[in-house]
Amino acid sequence: MKFISTRGKSTVESASQAISQGLANDGGLFVPETFPQVDISKMLKMDYASIACHVLKQFLTEYNETALLTACENAYAKFEPESPSTVVKIDDNFYILELFHGPTLAFKDVALTILPHLLRAGADNIGVKDEILILVATSGDTGKAALEGFKNQKGIKIMVFYPSEGVSDMQKAQMTTQEGDNVNVVAVKGNFDDCQSAVKTIFSSKDIANKLKEKGVILSSANSINFGRLAPQIGYYFATYCMLVNQNEINMGDKINFVVPTGNFGNILAGYYAKKMGLPIDKLICASNSNNVLTEFFVSGTYDKNREFFKTMSPSMDILISSNLERLIFEMSGRNAEITAKRMEELKTVGKYSITKQEKEEIAKEFYADYCEEDECLETLSEFFDEFGYLLDTHTSVAVNVAEKYIGQKGLNTPTVVLSTASPYKFTQNVLKAISGKHEKDAFKACQKLNEITACPIPVQITELKGKAPRFTKVIDKNDIVNEVMDFIK
Ligand SMILES: *Cc1c(COP(=O)(O)O)cnc(C)c1O
Repeated sequence: MKFISTRGKSTVESASQAISQGLANDGGLFVPETFPQVDISKMLKMDYASIACHVLKQFLTEYNETALLTACENAYAKFEPESPSTVVKIDDNFYILELFHGPTLAFKDVALTILPHLLRAGADNIGVKDEILILVATSGDTGKAALEGFKNQKGIKIMVFYPSEGVSDMQKAQMTTQEGDNVNVVAVKGNFDDCQSAVKTIFSSKDIANKLKEKGVILSSANSINFGRLAPQIGYYFATYCMLVNQNEINMGDKINFVVPTGNFGNILAGYYAKKMGLPIDKLICASNSNNVLTEFFVSGTYDKNREFFKTMSPSMDILISSNLERLIFEMSGRNAEITAKRMEELKTVGKYSITKQEKEEIAKEFYADYCEEDECLETLSEFFDEFGYLLDTHTSVAVNVAEKYIGQKGLNTPTVVLSTASPYKFTQNVLKAISGKHEKDAFKACQKLNEITACPIPVQITELKGKAPRFTKVIDKNDIVNEVMDFIK
């Protein structure tokens, strides 16, 4: 299948090319030329890996199907208990989809466990023999999930940079103890922006690209603007639907809602793509925290990033530029690349752009958006535990709060699934605060206390970390990042 750029000036012949390249040459994002229709009744009896493979194969038409299925099976065998997507019934018409049973306890594992295969096989398909070097600047979650996904993968190396003063103790412990022969983790003095801009400079430098090429290395990214990160997330929307049909919760053809805690708009966009492929979705509900730039956009039709940035207790959603929204804007403009390019240019130069009234109305047919303040997040988490005995993490609590606001307006006639994106033990201190009002500085002690109060089991991924010696302790100046990269590939 061909992939076109949202900005119109770059088309590639295959998914292999789109995934290997990551970003289109004109600065736009790659989108599939068409959305293939799938027959859901054929998926009902499939296991998760087969559903994932079936969905991927619709776009990755030139990939070897046997190898793709094996790769999906290997990736999703890393999830506990048995599937990356586990549906829990909370109440009539109300469900939680747990996407956090992977190696790093966050939903990003669903994509990052399979991305290494998509990248390597894609590069092989188009005859690229070089080693692939993945560079990641992370504020926490992505770094660890990428490290776990890429560790010991042949023909790939990965290097993660995190801000020395910008990640939680648990996230730091997760990254610095990382195993694998092809990984490197480095702390950079400063905050996330210092880290990110240093890495971006490397990506945009022709000089560095040439030097790397001489050594047989090409750069790539594991960020959600890569179609290879996005595509594996479509699978769980279908898998959830099949599960609800199989358990007689819904009938084939019934429409359902999904509520998605949103940051970069990758997860919810995958839901929209599933709908385009034929999944009966009524509304996609976009939940934001106090950084509610998306809520405002859906309500007013103007995206404006000129606003205060809040550090919240759902840090993976603290974002002012939601990169994947560009793909939705492109669809809603009737795939008008010229208009999309113009809007993205406005976003870059003046920090805002507007869509037409008609586009806004089109979006309102598919999406609903609202946000949740910090005190509401704590309150929802605590009330939900009291009422249902179910422990949410802080990101999922934002989504449940918005789900409740939606249901308050429209009632609960449509089956509604909230996507749970992280284990409560990943953001333990704030979860503990919500449940007990107690502050605990030490992350491991907080886990212990939370476990005592809630009896919710601590995942092994957390217990294993305790007492594990760090392998990576280097802290560097941001000006030394290039040297560090060159050193690593020697
Ligand atoms: C990344 C992340 C999100 C946001 O997902 P997007 O695809 O960026 O919208 C939400 N919750 C958690 C826990 C995450 O790690």
